[in-house]
Amino acid sequence: MVKERAAIFIIFGGSGDLAHRKLYPSLFRLYKSGFLKDHFAVIGTARRPWSDDYFRETVVTSLKESFDDDEAIMKEFAQHFFYQSHDVNDSEHYIALKNLAAKLDDQFDAGHNRVYYMAIAPRFFGTVAEHINSEGLKAEGYNRLVIEKPFGRDLDSACELNGNISKAFPEDDIYRIDHYLGKEMIQAIPNIRAHNDKFEEALNSKYVSNIQVTLAEALGVEDRGGYYETAGVLRDMVQNHIMQIIGAVASDEPEATEAKVIHKNRTELFNSLKVLTPEEVDKDFVRGQYDTDELAENKAYRQEDNVAEDSQIETFTAGKIQFNSERWSGVPFYVRSGKRMPAKSSRIDIVFNEKVEELGIRPNTVVTLLIEKVDGHKVLINGIDYKDSKQDFIKLPDETKTDKAREAYESLIIDILAGNRIHFTLWDELRSTWKYIDAIRQRWDSQTADFPNYLSGTMGPDSAEMLLERDGNSWIWD
Ligand code: NAD
Repeated sequence: MVKERAAIFIIFGGSGDLAHRKLYPSLFRLYKSGFLKDHFAVIGTARRPWSDDYFRETVVTSLKESFDDDEAIMKEFAQHFFYQSHDVNDSEHYIALKNLAAKLDDQFDAGHNRVYYMAIAPRFFGTVAEHINSEGLKAEGYNRLVIEKPFGRDLDSACELNGNISKAFPEDDIYRIDHYLGKEMIQAIPNIRAHNDKFEEALNSKYVSNIQVTLAEALGVEDRGGYYETAGVLRDMVQNHIMQIIGAVASDEPEATEAKVIHKNRTELFNSLKVLTPEEVDKDFVRGQYDTDELAENKAYRQEDNVAEDSQIETFTAGKIQFNSERWSGVPFYVRSGKRMPAKSSRIDIVFNEKVEELGIRPNTVVTLLIEKVDGHKVLINGIDYKDSKQDFIKLPDETKTDKAREAYESLIIDILAGNRIHFTLWDELRSTWKYIDAIRQRWDSQTADFPNYLSGTMGPDSAEMLLERDGNSWIWD
């Protein structure tokens, strides 16, 4: 038995969407690959009084949506699942959980390790963490707390949440999920940088004209209007995913392999974010909200379920982020994310300037890193399938050429079990990114936006184009 892979997973919110759509399928993949074998059990908790059998049925039903394996192996996997009804405020329920976990630990020889996974509403994170500690749930092996996003809704609430969970868990045992950090392409970026001296040499203000990060979605808010009304794209995508992508591209020492060094570099980068004044927010950030499309076939955001008729929530933003660091001073990082754009696309475009010719690179070269795997398994660079790539400017290290697609959550679970915190966000990074985002949010909250201001299926409001034109630049993905 590999000790670290043995664990009891306690999933708070075990009947929810995240658990069924992401966590159970990822655990199942790890089971099929043999990474998880005999020595693990999953306790799902939620308010409803379910039996173990019923819980297992829900797990198998959701697996059938993603896999066409034999039902027998799904049922075999589901034998590792147990259910405990649980109210987050009831101390008795934590004692019951503790006893069940101890019993299953014996039954499965699970190494006295615990993974506590918060797949519940963020307002419960602090309460649950405190009860885990005060009711003595921690076992004698490792005890790791996994926290889903969103981590706060501004700097103050993030500080409060962090205060609560850090009373119960030391920082080293806290795994804050930003599932973009689990994506293969994001993980490959430091590797690509470390293996391509010329590319790395060119990644600074001397040679880079601008960097563009686009996370575009074709869908609207679907059935998540209620949640979205409390978030908006700035909180939902920019504060976390876009910032972490920038961290992978722009922080120092990509060859570092130690989590501490990597986090130190990312923190330094985020500490050098140029926080905007209210006037700079008006100039450097634009916001939008989708209307119906030209044929009025899609709903406007304000017509979606659980969305206010006069909602001021933005479904699109584009902005110019700048850093005060020596490496990046003067280089605009244009970021953009929105719903109901023409297509789904997650990409980084690095635009080099004329001076890059000194390094033997064609001036105005654009390096495009596509963050999503294409066709489910290929990593593309410069839009070229790596297998056919003839260009010699950047080579993909062998480790990144994998046909075996790993889901973000699958790779994050492997990291959690291994105690590897590289692909999780640390409190110091969050503090700086929230501070940056708060300045924009506060300015926007003090003004009334003229929404809706872009048609579904378009690239957002015109102001997003003007933002770059003003600097003599333009979006590469257009
Ligand atoms: P959900 O509403 O589908 O599930 C919530 C779960 O919490 C359910 O199992 C519910 O029974 C349980 N619950 C609610 N109140 C409870 C209480 N008082 N005591 C005990 N259990 C209670 O939500 P979800 O979409 O699965 O999201 C869960 C968390 O994951 C949230 O923090 C969300 O922001 C985050 N998240 C979800 C997704 C996603 O794709 N669904 C993506 C990123 C982050």
